[in-house]
Amino acid sequence: MALDALLHRLEGVRQVGRDKWHARCPAHGDTTPSLAIREAEDGRVLIHCFAGCGAAEVLAATGLEFSDLYADKLDGHRAAPIKRPFTAADALRLLAYESLVVLQTADAMRRGEEIDRDRLFKSVARIQAALNAVEG
Ligand SMILES: [Zn+2]
Repeated sequence: MALDALLHRLEGVRQVGRDKWHARCPAHGDTTPSLAIREAEDGRVLIHCFAGCGAAEVLAATGLEFSDLYADKLDGHRAAPIKRPFTAADALRLLAYESLVVLQTADAMRRGEEIDRDRLFKSVARIQAALNAVEG
């Protein structure tokens, strides 16, 4: 089954809903679960990295291909895209984590410590990517 094949190749997998999982994204140095996985009603497996990795990059990192996720259900036909497969709750979960990163950075600045500007920019990019993913 496509979903099992994918989940077995990922780390930090956690079920967050009836047909939803989060995991660490294999395509970037993911320390928190940025990858959302959803099994659609028609059996297709949808993936989205809230840090901004493309689905193709994520799949490449797992050694799977798009056909592995869709093949047994689509039977060669192209199915209609699913609108907004990921929810605002998915985005908020990421936002909650990134706001902590920003807070810690602000604290470090206040103490006059060296801050990681790259990580700060990454937070902004991740929040923007999350918004794009759930915007209809
Ligand atoms: Zn990623």
